[in-house]
Amino acid sequence: MANIRYGGIDTFKLIAAFLVITIHLGPLLSVDPYADFVLTGIIARLAVPFFFIASGFFLFGKMKADRKRELASMRRFTLRVGVLYAAGVIAYLPLNLYDGYFKQPISIGGILQDIVFNGTFYHLWYLPALMTGAWIVYGLRVLFSAKTVLAVSAALYGLALLGDSYYGLTAGSPALTALYDGMFTIFDYTRNGIGFAPLYIALGAWAAVRPLPSRPRQKYVIWLILSIAALLVEGMVLHAAGWPRHDSMYLALVPAVYSLFRLLQSAEGREHPYLRALSTWIYMLHPWAIVLVRGGAKATGSFDLIVENKPVFYIAVSFVSVIVSAVCIWLLQAMKRGRGPKKGEKHSRHRAWAEIDLDHLAHNLQQLKNIIPRSTAIMAIVKADAYGHGSVEVARRLYKEGVRSFAVADVEEAIVLRRSGIEGEILVLGYTADHRLGDIVRYRLTQTVISAEDAERLQAFGKPMMVHVKIDTGMRRLGESFEQIERILSIYRHKFLHITGTFSHLAAADRQDAAGTALTLKQFEIFGSVVAQIKAAGFQPGRIHLQSSYGMLNYEGVGMDLARPGIALYGSLGSEKDVVRADVDLRPVLSLKAAVSLVKSVQAGDSIGYGGDYISPGDGRIATISIGYADGVARAYAERGGYVLIHGQQAKIVGKICMDQLMVDVTDIEGVRQGDTATLIGRDGDQAITAAAIADRLGTLTNEVLVSLGSRVERVYVSR
Ligand SMILES: *Cc1c(COP(=O)(O)O)cnc(C)c1O
Repeated sequence: MANIRYGGIDTFKLIAAFLVITIHLGPLLSVDPYADFVLTGIIARLAVPFFFIASGFFLFGKMKADRKRELASMRRFTLRVGVLYAAGVIAYLPLNLYDGYFKQPISIGGILQDIVFNGTFYHLWYLPALMTGAWIVYGLRVLFSAKTVLAVSAALYGLALLGDSYYGLTAGSPALTALYDGMFTIFDYTRNGIGFAPLYIALGAWAAVRPLPSRPRQKYVIWLILSIAALLVEGMVLHAAGWPRHDSMYLALVPAVYSLFRLLQSAEGREHPYLRALSTWIYMLHPWAIVLVRGGAKATGSFDLIVENKPVFYIAVSFVSVIVSAVCIWLLQAMKRGRGPKKGEKHSRHRAWAEIDLDHLAHNLQQLKNIIPRSTAIMAIVKADAYGHGSVEVARRLYKEGVRSFAVADVEEAIVLRRSGIEGEILVLGYTADHRLGDIVRYRLTQTVISAEDAERLQAFGKPMMVHVKIDTGMRRLGESFEQIERILSIYRHKFLHITGTFSHLAAADRQDAAGTALTLKQFEIFGSVVAQIKAAGFQPGRIHLQSSYGMLNYEGVGMDLARPGIALYGSLGSEKDVVRADVDLRPVLSLKAAVSLVKSVQAGDSIGYGGDYISPGDGRIATISIGYADGVARAYAERGGYVLIHGQQAKIVGKICMDQLMVDVTDIEGVRQGDTATLIGRDGDQAITAAAIADRLGTLTNEVLVSLGSRVERVYVSR
């Protein structure tokens, strides 16, 4: 299952950050100047192109072939990098001042040049280069094929090489000399957003869509060794010839960085968002660390000991960079936490909103883990926008709690998750039409094989694809029928289907009567036998799974590789009346609330609402609540005794439920005012209304009540 998580890339980012410090400090300078040149002028030069290629990979890898959305991601990317750059510019102003930056004659052109190309402080050039390079690659992609994009950016790279480590070549031609000298009046170096960045960013975009070969290690380790050897030779020869004007760019750097990146891409490992952040901070802050260490050394009279001794200086600066970066990350997170809504805080939302308690979600996950063997992992069902809870936020929290498998109904739901950065396995439970199969591959999704013919169709698509095979063991919905064992085996023979799982679905796990139990046990038995036959035929079924919520709650301790809870994760059962065999404490994740928009008095005999068929039996007060059937409150709920909670007391719904509003009787509740909160699902004081209770009144399932919540209902996430 290569190609799923990018722990390798994250880890190397940190190494690359240290390589950048290496370039700026020359740790071997006091030991052996030539060794220092090889380290800082050649080897450490891998770092910056690596940052470019990783940025191209993540930026363009996630993009869809839809111009509007592409532009939106480009804008987001530019904004993110731009804000970082602006912060960097400001953070280094004191050092600019100290360096005498403002003492030179100031010209608008000069400042612009620094902002656009050179960076206002030496290491900051990387950020404008990243933005410029990304836009160049984006523009080229709009116009040309991927190969042409690479060719054009390679040509730009070639031109820039002549202004960098191959500068000596231009000496032979007065025209070239004039050309490059002309360029150097616009920017200080050709290793910028035009000459340097585009090729690596384009290679990153390329790596994102090219499937890895079946044995990437073998192939790219050889490439890496060869190209690093070539890089060393190239660097040393150019150095000896005295050609370099600068030593950022080499020819052999291109295959070296690409093969290194492919290797890291293929290295499966947990992703490390923390390392990613740390490397950015170290990159941004290390010049300040240099100043701090120098200042500290001067103040303590240990300048010779620390600063002049280059290896020691390097270690000291690296150490201070890490500490300062870690503190900054911690502070920023603390600030973010301070801003978010606190648990139990009153939300004075203006209309209707759902509070999603992510801690309850984590609690339910733990409860469910307690009833399955250690060897069974959770595949969280987050289809239908996580049963109305918001799939991105839910998946993010579950990922944080260790869940690495998710399942959704269709490819569109899966893409939403990938694009918001959810890593791990995302299984598409339903059928995917031919014209969307490209997205399955592109977003590294896992497709369900729903029949033997379907497998042929997926094979015919002609690209390696991760799949789980579905077996129909009695549900008669999706899956190849368990009776057709030859057809089932045929699925496992297809070359392009990378089968990472085999599963089925229980039809009656919620029933505990004899017939229901018998049906379920039969399904367990059939599934076990099919899996055994797959193995006996010499195939790998991948991870096997069968149980959804009720399968887990009523058939505890079944040891499969995955279990697929949906509704139980959200803290509900299908009905209030349901009892399950397992002893678990599930807590509802969602509460539904709405504001009181108006309170008015009515007299006995007044009719209330549409149709006028509800007549007030006495004098009293009516509150209008700003939530209606467009928000998912079923119209039938009014006739089935529906009520809401206000000030911890029940207020009966009166009259017909309207599209955007409903009315409740608050005659017996003291002091109800505009802006008060009405609870439709959830707890208020001693009273609570569960989604399951509403479902029972409506004669449906909790699932339907939850997924019916309209998109207009704002989702508010709370966690401690
Ligand atoms: C929806 C679904 C689930 C989750 O069902 P719950 O009853 O909500 O736990 C599991 N597996 C499949 C195939 C599903 O479609």
